[in-house]
Amino acid sequence: MFSQLQPVATDPILGLMAAYQQDPNPHKIDLGVGVYKDEQGHTAVLKCVKKAEALRLAKEDSKTYIGMAGDLNFNQHIEQLAFGKEHPALLAGRLTTAHTPGGTGALRVAAEFIKRANPSATIWVTTPTWANHISLFQAAGLTVKEYSYYDYNSKGLLEEQMFAELAHVEPGDVVLLHACCHNPSGLDLTFAQWQRFTQLAKERGFTPLVDMAYQGFGVGLDEDTAGLRHLAAEVPELILCSSCSKNFGLYRERIGACTLLTEHSKAAETARSVLLSVVRSIYSMPPAHGAIIVSHILDSQELTALWHQELAEMRNRINDYRQLIVDKFKAEGIVQDFSFITRQHGMFSFLGINKAQIDRLRDEFSIYMVGSSRVSIAGLNHSNIDYFAKSVATVLK
Ligand code: PMP
Repeated sequence: MFSQLQPVATDPILGLMAAYQQDPNPHKIDLGVGVYKDEQGHTAVLKCVKKAEALRLAKEDSKTYIGMAGDLNFNQHIEQLAFGKEHPALLAGRLTTAHTPGGTGALRVAAEFIKRANPSATIWVTTPTWANHISLFQAAGLTVKEYSYYDYNSKGLLEEQMFAELAHVEPGDVVLLHACCHNPSGLDLTFAQWQRFTQLAKERGFTPLVDMAYQGFGVGLDEDTAGLRHLAAEVPELILCSSCSKNFGLYRERIGACTLLTEHSKAAETARSVLLSVVRSIYSMPPAHGAIIVSHILDSQELTALWHQELAEMRNRINDYRQLIVDKFKAEGIVQDFSFITRQHGMFSFLGINKAQIDRLRDEFSIYMVGSSRVSIAGLNHSNIDYFAKSVATVLK
């Protein structure tokens, strides 16, 4: 049977990572991979996580099954983190959450849930979007369509096109939005655009699915959820997929959550039973470790304060480098306007350079970025930013 299989092409980012690792150039820079790196180019374990892990080791007294919804304490914390403790939807008992294996697990659970609710649903995603959105929803059997989002010319939002296209989305379909730090463009909706989206969702009756993989990486923990909170206060139903990979640095522990907002608390009970049955049929129960670490951090004022500080350090470093890129490019005599980088948020922006320039950066200067010119800003640090700016200036000449 296996002899019938055809090989599947590897993800271009993985190929890029392999090429980077084999490159002997001591000045090489990896701007491909979407993980946070510090000034030393290292993805360190957060101090608050180390402390919570020590606590877990001391306190854990059983390895029995955790249940399909996962860690209930974590679920409560993640709802409060996303919506704020006083959000009317939370106070009304309209939210229900299952912790999942990463944000990807949350999206897959969401996809299966959507299929149960409406087997013929189409899910609409931004052009462009995180590539895995498309393959993941298709693998779950949903129809995926795209709507206009990033304008490669103005580096802003294709606002009128986006809203004109979304005005045709059918009730029963799902529209995916990135809560903040849009991957791959870094371009987020303004609050006014979230309001406009909210109005349209109410008029058309489609269901929003908000993917929040970078809460706290943009402007701040609360600021990054302003659009989501507004939307959730207005629409009857919504799905939120969140991830603790980036903001808690828990990538390999695989911790995220799928939260449903239902029209009223009774509907939340029904939705929860379906959600848990979806979980049961895919992986039965999530792994516990990441959720308990996050719970320990958020249970403790001291650890929460430390987490806020460490998260701010990561966010500020990225935002400082957004400014530094623009300043260094100017200092190198680059005349093109790159100021859009400082208006975008999170780990990524498109440099907006062409394929020949991307190839030259890789082949002549050992600077690696994906073919779309998406750069992962956290790959830059004090020891490589000048080399990066000089190299970009050379290929732009
Ligand atoms: N959504 C988006 C937009 C992402 O960028 C990512 C991670 N790259 C995820 C979801 C999934 O994150 P996780 O590693 O928690 O599965």
